[in-house]
Amino acid sequence: MFRVHAVVNDSTHRCRGRTVQAADHKHLVSLEKGFPALKAEGIRVRLPACKGGAVAEKGMMKNIHYTSSEKRSVRKLLLSWFADNQRDLPWRDEYEPYQVWISEIMGQQTQMDRVVRYFNRWMELFPDITAVAAAPEQQLLKAWEGLGYYSRVKNIQRTATLLLENHGGQIPADLNQLLALPGIGPYTAAAILSIAFNQPYPVLDANVERVFARLLDLDQPLKQVQVRKKLQAVAADLLPAGKARLFNQALMEFGALACRPKSPGCSYCPLAAHCRALQHGTVDNRPVPLPREKKIEIVMACGIIIHKNKVYIQQRLPDDVWGSLWEFPGGRLKHGETPIQAAGREVFEETEFSVSWLRPLATVAHHYTKYRVTLHGFTCRLQNSGNTPILHAAVQYRWIPLSGLSDFPFPAGHRQLLVHLDSEMRRENSEN
Ligand code: SF4
Repeated sequence: MFRVHAVVNDSTHRCRGRTVQAADHKHLVSLEKGFPALKAEGIRVRLPACKGGAVAEKGMMKNIHYTSSEKRSVRKLLLSWFADNQRDLPWRDEYEPYQVWISEIMGQQTQMDRVVRYFNRWMELFPDITAVAAAPEQQLLKAWEGLGYYSRVKNIQRTATLLLENHGGQIPADLNQLLALPGIGPYTAAAILSIAFNQPYPVLDANVERVFARLLDLDQPLKQVQVRKKLQAVAADLLPAGKARLFNQALMEFGALACRPKSPGCSYCPLAAHCRALQHGTVDNRPVPLPREKKIEIVMACGIIIHKNKVYIQQRLPDDVWGSLWEFPGGRLKHGETPIQAAGREVFEETEFSVSWLRPLATVAHHYTKYRVTLHGFTCRLQNSGNTPILHAAVQYRWIPLSGLSDFPFPAGHRQLLVHLDSEMRRENSEN
């Protein structure tokens, strides 16, 4: 028997000969499309008002659990798959807690091959907690440049300092102590406890959630709080005693390499016999997709001021977006403004420099969170002789030769402009 939920109001509605409680016919029809059995059986459906998108369920997750023998089999198959297929990742050599912590923070929103590159360089520069705490923030930001979400690296340093002050320079193997540290939330704490200390905490990253959504054929969006709670319980229940480190990583790795978001390897999947989505033909719809978040377009312009073979850069305010990174002065276009006008205005508003000879250097695009940014860069010259700015949107400034700019951490768009600037300057020099 099916139970049906949807976002509706309380009015009664006739739909194809059946009485339902719904005002939104579109919702209902799309909902029914996924449930031909409902239509075929001519079921009278009452749709209670509830929050969230239109969702139809079979038995409201009543069969979300595996039997004991299924659990034993899933554990065995996954661990065996992991033994044969796990990637050779540097922090897996010793599962040293500091390394596990850094790998987990770096791994958020980042592809594994990039994580490994950044991780190896990081460990060369900052081999332990003491080195992180003592490093100049700019050096940490530079090592993180390109990974984005720069508050993470600032939190790493704050946490390293606290670890030295309060925990003898060690990462605590305790949930509450971990949660009290900056930048460590329930997910990261569980990952550190299970992977570094082999404690029985389940870890639900996006890969693991997808695996469970398919294995259990979950027909509700994973973002719903009650679904997440149940998944947490299922994952905890499935953890084999004494093997949390291996099993959590096996699930994560299996999601990344086998049960991939697109084109999962169902034809050679060791868990196929336990996969309810495969049995029901719903793999392509699991996890239930959420409506795509609309990207917000932002158009910006900046001025790259060149004076006596040096380039002007300024450091952003610490609590701003891309806080403490370096940039060329610039900002968003105002209504009716052209990019070149915006660049000149922004340079003046942020530095009180008047500039001339604005020439387009490049237009670059990049994304951050829900924003799609188009950035127009212009090279320009100082109009007046003074080269000391009055800062209105930065904490400090520098005049740097082109060859020295790579020592500073920049946000993604400005870093792309640097590449263009470098090739333009080389071209100009070769022509002169
Ligand atoms: S059968 Fe396919 S969908 Fe199911 S767990 Fe295996 S790879 Fe994932």
